[in-house]
Amino acid sequence: MHLPSKLPNVGTNIFTIMSTLATEVGAINLGQGFPDYPMDEQLHKLVAKAMADGHNQYAPMAGLPKLREAIADKIAFLYGTPVDPVSEITITPGGTYAIYTAFTTILEPGDEVIVLEPCYDSYVPNIEINGARAVLVPLKVPGYGVDWEAVKRAVTDKTKAIIINSPHNPTGAVLREEDILALREIVSGTGIYIVSDEVYEHLIFDGVPHESILKYPDLLERSFVCFSFGKVYNCTGWKQGYAVAPEHLMKEFRKVHQFNCFSCFTPTQVALAEYLQNRSAFLELSSQLQEKRDHFIKLMAATRFTLQDSYGSYFICGTYEKISDEGDRDFSIRITKEYGVATIPVSAFYQNGKDDKVVRFCFSKKNETLEMAVERLMKIG
Ligand code: PMP
Repeated sequence: MHLPSKLPNVGTNIFTIMSTLATEVGAINLGQGFPDYPMDEQLHKLVAKAMADGHNQYAPMAGLPKLREAIADKIAFLYGTPVDPVSEITITPGGTYAIYTAFTTILEPGDEVIVLEPCYDSYVPNIEINGARAVLVPLKVPGYGVDWEAVKRAVTDKTKAIIINSPHNPTGAVLREEDILALREIVSGTGIYIVSDEVYEHLIFDGVPHESILKYPDLLERSFVCFSFGKVYNCTGWKQGYAVAPEHLMKEFRKVHQFNCFSCFTPTQVALAEYLQNRSAFLELSSQLQEKRDHFIKLMAATRFTLQDSYGSYFICGTYEKISDEGDRDFSIRITKEYGVATIPVSAFYQNGKDDKVVRFCFSKKNETLEMAVERLMKIG
């Protein structure tokens, strides 16, 4: 029997390749985006308590009501937008699942989705498995700003959605108010949906405001906005997140969700509902991670890498043009093997492997991890 692949272009992803190599050669892993420092003890204590208290059975399909209410309070507090916790928020097993479910809800074979590259590697397979086509628009290099004129040119009568991501993986770029206004101009009066990947919501630096779609009620009307508790609370392994969308869209989203995951892990929902009451726990995240970014930038000044600006996320990109003219994949693999530091080649975030000789570093690591890694990177001649 021959099974034709639904995703013929997908192989083992670069994170798996680089993390496996890092483990094999004992390298410091600045590649994959996960913190190596502990999460807030209070939060895992709340989970243990929830389990001891007997919260171990199915949660409601859309998520624990108390957690959805806490999220709605946070949204009103941060963005001034009323969101109905009953009909407009669904708890999901992570941000990736929320994005996949949003695409599955809206896409039909033959549809097109505008994707800005480089991008998180789940988007294109999520689109293609739904029989739709990703229309790729490159971000501007350097800086990774959006070329909105190019986006406008990419719109056709088949365009069903645009996916945006701010703060941005892999580049650390963030969307500004003028970007949202440009997006509004493109979608207004059309049937184009927006999928907004905001998993790094609270990880934004230098006092730059997070331009959430939740701040723009007219855009929210056509949007699925996707979040991740794992990313912001240093517990990526919990795989818990949520989606926000207007009732008419969320109703359809839940039809897909209901027969895929049905409901998410209950104890973490009980814990997060309580933890969200403490606003400083999310308000302080930016400055904590900004310190790490700044520490890493300072250390890296002693290497021959040239770092680009990072305004948010766990990531900062750097060119190695002063070191080598190898392709970024070969360079990353060689540096992992020879110097013991794993990074991610940014070409992996482009469908056509566009290689600007840039690698991505993850700085959400203990200071000693960053220091040890940079000591090794300094040896690169
Ligand atoms: N979107 C982006 C841009 C990401 O970088 C990630 C995590 N790497 C996700 C979504 C996924 O988040 P989660 O682990 O909650 O699925």
